[in-house]
Amino acid sequence: MHSHDSLPEASSDPDRGFGEWPGEFRFCPMCGDSLTRRLVGGKRRPACESCGFVHFRNPGVGAAVVLRDEQDRLLLVRRGPHATRAGLWSIPAGYVDYGEDVRAGAARELLEETGLIATIGEPVWVATNTHDPAKVTIGIWFAGELTGGRLAAGDDADDVGWFPLGELPPLAFDTDGAYIASLGA
Ligand SMILES: [Zn+2]
Repeated sequence: MHSHDSLPEASSDPDRGFGEWPGEFRFCPMCGDSLTRRLVGGKRRPACESCGFVHFRNPGVGAAVVLRDEQDRLLLVRRGPHATRAGLWSIPAGYVDYGEDVRAGAARELLEETGLIATIGEPVWVATNTHDPAKVTIGIWFAGELTGGRLAAGDDADDVGWFPLGELPPLAFDTDGAYIASLGA
């Protein structure tokens, strides 16, 4: 894996990120009262004065599966009309469910989007995805080894195919692009 060369500086400002990321809770998800902001763990966070709930807003986790065929082509899916960046292509991926093993989530998303079954191997890339500022995720790209299934687009994908690295269709996400560029194609 490669390190990023333009990471923002670490900050201990208790108001770091405030107002920067849309989609903050305004009401307590536990009791429904309005949230205020309270200094917890060095950061002012949305908190409920009625029940004590504190919203530690963490990124979601997205798991992607990198599959290459015997001709070294890469498996990509085209994002369907209801998906983010519809019509553009991405490495098969999706959100890991709460409590779900990250590799099981990767395998599930691959099966749902492509009809293929794979053994999930080691991580080959990790990145922060900020393309949707209201739903930031940490992406983990796993190497996959195809073991079965039958290629058919499904779920959020409306097409699926194998592409030579030099002839890729338009990509939806710059983080997929950064990983693919790291392959030296
Ligand atoms: Zn509450």
